[in-house]
Amino acid sequence: MSESLHAEIITIGTELLLGEIVDTNTTTIARALRGIGLDLFHTSTVGDNAERIAQAVREGLERSQVVITSGGLGPTVDDATREGIALALDVPTEFHPELWEHIQELFARYGRTPTQNNRRQALLPSGALPVHNPVGTAPAFIVETEGACVVALPGVPAELTTILQESILPYLRERLDLHHVILTRIVRTAGVGESFIDDGIQDLEHLKNPTVGLAAHAGRVDIRITAKAEDNKEALRMIAELEGTLRERLGDVIYGTDDESLESVVLRMLEQRAWRLVIVESGTAGALGQALASLKGFFCAGLILPHQTPETEVEEALHAAMQRHAAEIGLGLTLSPQDRQQQLVCRLVTPEINERLLRSFGGPPKNAPRWAASLGLNLIRKRLSQ
Ligand code: ATP
Repeated sequence: MSESLHAEIITIGTELLLGEIVDTNTTTIARALRGIGLDLFHTSTVGDNAERIAQAVREGLERSQVVITSGGLGPTVDDATREGIALALDVPTEFHPELWEHIQELFARYGRTPTQNNRRQALLPSGALPVHNPVGTAPAFIVETEGACVVALPGVPAELTTILQESILPYLRERLDLHHVILTRIVRTAGVGESFIDDGIQDLEHLKNPTVGLAAHAGRVDIRITAKAEDNKEALRMIAELEGTLRERLGDVIYGTDDESLESVVLRMLEQRAWRLVIVESGTAGALGQALASLKGFFCAGLILPHQTPETEVEEALHAAMQRHAAEIGLGLTLSPQDRQQQLVCRLVTPEINERLLRSFGGPPKNAPRWAASLGLNLIRKRLSQ
């Protein structure tokens, strides 16, 4: 397969441009393309206008070998994709009697009569290959050009997904001779900032395959490894090797991979020791309690004290609550504004230790509670892994 082979997506619909619906079709197509190892380099959205659709398709064909559109295949004048693609390719539209028959049959099945508008759905750009739509009336189609192809899919997500999986992916694999897979793993870290991670792995972020990318969340940073290979086994081997390098460099700031959350990792560790956890927080709007509330099946008592409660009172309340609930581990968080920053005091108490950690947060104040909760949970994790 040529290294430069890649696809792009054009979603069509004025509703999308007006912000009335969320574009989930791009995500669906992007994931599907990743699954067959076809790179996606570009996505765009245009309204229901034949000229602008034609312009987008022409530009797409200048860049990419595969242009996939979604939407605009309905029966109304608004549905301008057929016409737009025909314009882009400089061909007329032609009537497909067999598609019209199929549309009439579908209507008959539901005891309805199609209107002349529905005939529009049987018009395809000249030379297009109709693609059967088993779940709706709008036929999809493919137009092959020299060295490229345009794939037009309906906008309704269920129809798009079915046609993509049943017809388009097999077609692309075959036509482009794709025998690659692309797999991704997320390596999750907590307790350090994005710049710390970036410093440690900058060279890896320039790799071509596997690729490495960062996504920062409050108090947590995810590292995405994406590998392209001949088969799953090879892609997994490449990912495992890179994950090993990350673990060597970053050590215990890594708490998990993929679906593991910091909360679920802490829960597992508490369950292994059969420990009860008590938390007391002030200034965090109960963010830690909320994070833990989703975890069922382990004992955790939580107490939220008013904003600006002094650190000493948080600690006293923590000791009292631990005693009351016979808890083996307790975490107190005191978050308070300090100059232009937010200052966090974490107090961690177990039978062996009584530890105080002081940290500052310079990001947007609204993110500070989630940042504080992540730091607190990470402190528990690090203590329990010793
Ligand atoms: P139909 O023939 O069923 O009308 P269509 O191909 O003409 O299909 P559109 O009319 O563009 O598709 O969109 C139909 C519906 O599909 C929209 O009202 C919206 O609910 C959904 N839809 C369209 N595009 C998207 C998108 N990119 N992401 C998610 N949903 C979409």
